Amino acid sequence: QAQSDKITLVIHGGAGTIRKENMTDAMEQAYHAKLKEALEAGYQVLRQGGSSLDAVVVTIQILEDSPLFNAGKGAVFTAAGRNELDAAIMDGASRKAGAVAGITTVKNPIKAARAVMDNSPHVMMIGPGAEEFAQTQGLEIVDPAYFYTEDRFKQLEKIKQREANQGKDGGWLPLVGQEKFGTVGAVALDQFGNLAAGTSTGGMTNKKFGRVGDAPIIGAGTYADNQTCAVSATGHGEYFIRAVVGYDVAALMAYKQLSVQAAAEEVVMKKLVEMGGEGGIIALDKNGNFAMPFNSAGMYRGFIRADGVAETAIFK
Ligand code: ASP
Repeated sequence: QAQSDKITLVIHGGAGTIRKENMTDAMEQAYHAKLKEALEAGYQVLRQGGSSLDAVVVTIQILEDSPLFNAGKGAVFTAAGRNELDAAIMDGASRKAGAVAGITTVKNPIKAARAVMDNSPHVMMIGPGAEEFAQTQGLEIVDPAYFYTEDRFKQLEKIKQREANQGKDGGWLPLVGQEKFGTVGAVALDQFGNLAAGTSTGGMTNKKFGRVGDAPIIGAGTYADNQTCAVSATGHGEYFIRAVVGYDVAALMAYKQLSVQAAAEEVVMKKLVEMGGEGGIIALDKNGNFAMPFNSAGMYRGFIRADGVAETAIFK
């Protein structure tokens, strides 16, 4: 039974130390406009009877193509000065999933994740193998230089400078007052009651030795199950992996009968805070209820429901 009044799309564009005083009005407007554009594109898919999976891909692709976000064009740099991209998608109806990690040449990593799910017997592919597979799928391949943006490169230089000054490994700790994680994600509910979740990221600035974050880890940064919820996360990935964030939200709903709001709050505002894990999530249930908690200063976020009115926000 199709229920067009239930369609819902919720997105994030990353969490972190995002403060109004550090942002110009023009910047703020640019973020709102891009978030709205992504929401409206995904909404059109849902409105026309498309699947939540298609809506998630269309939405995330717009955010990947924008240099404003740490995904696709505009991704952060590794310690070696490269852009290594991670993405995942999950289908709440079948609980099929696809993920890619450490890829450098696929223009839209979310499409590669989708291809892994749809057209391979596997769930996760990494590095050159994943790129080779993407090529066989006819996905757009770009020179790694496509992902370069000056701002992100300056962020890397700054973090390296700090490392040098401290005389020790500064790791991938966020730059105080500056850093925003900037990963993008979407969760959607379609007319047929199916949930889907997707996440795409460049990871964290100055990441080393093939580091992979939570975004492509099913159950951590990305998860979907029609019985409970669809989740996409952003934040300090190491914590999100260890807290198994996406699955934990779903488990609290399944085993403790918590609402999606209560489950999301419990994980982000209590469990992650106790561990020291900064960031946030978007979580959506099969009835269109959703939550967007974050324990950082801000999180780029927004939603659109059946009425087609997109709402976006950045700060607390
Ligand atoms: N969660 C991502 C990671 O750790 C970073 C982010 O959210 O921006 O790779």
